[in-house]
Amino acid sequence: MPSTDPAAAPDPRAVFLRRESEVRGYCRSFPAVFRAAKGARLIADDGREWIDFLAGAGSLNYGHNPPEVVAEVVAYLQRDGIGHSLDLHTTAKRDFLLAFEDCVLKPRNLDYRVQFTNPTGTNAVEAALKLARKATGRSGIIAFTNGYHGMTLGALAATGNKYNRAAAGVPLSGTTFMPYDGWLGPGIDSVAVLEKYLDDPSSGVDLPAAVIVETVQGEGGINIASTAWLKRLEAAARARGVLLIIDDIQVGCGRTGTFFSFESAGLTPDIVVLSKSIGGCGLPFAVLLNRPDLDARWKPAEHNGTFRGNNLAFVAAAAALRHWWTGRAFESEIAAKGDTVRARLNAIVAANPGKKLTVRGRGLMNGLVCADPDLAARISAKCYQDGLIIERAGPHDEVVKCMPPLTIDAADLNRGLDILTAAVAAV
Ligand code: PMP
Repeated sequence: MPSTDPAAAPDPRAVFLRRESEVRGYCRSFPAVFRAAKGARLIADDGREWIDFLAGAGSLNYGHNPPEVVAEVVAYLQRDGIGHSLDLHTTAKRDFLLAFEDCVLKPRNLDYRVQFTNPTGTNAVEAALKLARKATGRSGIIAFTNGYHGMTLGALAATGNKYNRAAAGVPLSGTTFMPYDGWLGPGIDSVAVLEKYLDDPSSGVDLPAAVIVETVQGEGGINIASTAWLKRLEAAARARGVLLIIDDIQVGCGRTGTFFSFESAGLTPDIVVLSKSIGGCGLPFAVLLNRPDLDARWKPAEHNGTFRGNNLAFVAAAAALRHWWTGRAFESEIAAKGDTVRARLNAIVAANPGKKLTVRGRGLMNGLVCADPDLAARISAKCYQDGLIIERAGPHDEVVKCMPPLTIDAADLNRGLDILTAAVAAV
């Protein structure tokens, strides 16, 4: 209803508050109405600007509207390039596959079939679980504490978060949770726990089809699995004919410093799930990378979907791969920026001894861990007031999650870190 006070400005959010579903989430923490975005900056309708350390929850590794990508997308539209194509062959899809071979698979000596799924991460996870079950003839999946794999029923069954699980409304079945690296405390080898369960014929845990794991848990609070743990997990799975699915939806595409997050551990997963930043400029896109002999188990159209042919995303993805993933320069850039972030976060910890803070992270995925979750909430809120968008993660939302675009320039990176530093001091 229009205000009766002639001096009161209408709330720019009015239609959202009146009409949009209660399920909305991020906009409650960051309630501005955004109009534009460029690089690492978000601009609201009223002209206010923020530095973006949320980066589309990992979908904007190359920033907002990267010109190298946007130019290709615009040119494609202007020449009437096909927009929607189900899974027909298109020149845009061909170019994406060629770019993916040239920039990602060949330099890493990897051989995978690329499966296009519907463009959300959760749909790609569903497909991965289905394929693992089909290929092994077994139904069980092992997931890990604090893991996050999506909101549709199969992926949700592999997601730890109680609040999200409770919304399912049906029993979430087929998945058994095991302790992630470090979850049982330092010095406890949780792969040994998993092996014990799998090898004891009376443990109550049947041999599963697959384990699904994030090398760094994003939503779970930037929990980092060690190289040794990941290698032991791969070996434990392989020795028992259990498939290894790596969910690289959030931490792939360079977030941890290399294109795939598992490169530094030298893993060869059976199935890799990619989404989010593979879309080049935030366009919806997801793929599975399947070991070829597993992929051969699919029959045509068994995992179908209308939006497996998002050609704009193919164009954007190919442009991003060719621009950032030809050669190794981008990796050095990410490493240097990651060092800057961790140095600044460690300085925050040192300057605020009473606040019980710690730092953890890899590449440009770093977190300021607050012993008191309420402190994390106040830091994030203060940052928003002062021009920085930064989210929280972890089982109690206790980790302030520092995830700028990988392409952020030094000035914006330091400006964002200045705002964070001041916010921690102020709360
Ligand atoms: N897996 C991981 C690791 C994720 O971070 C997410 C999204 N946060 C998903 C799966 C689900 O992706 P989507 O939201 O696109 O369904």
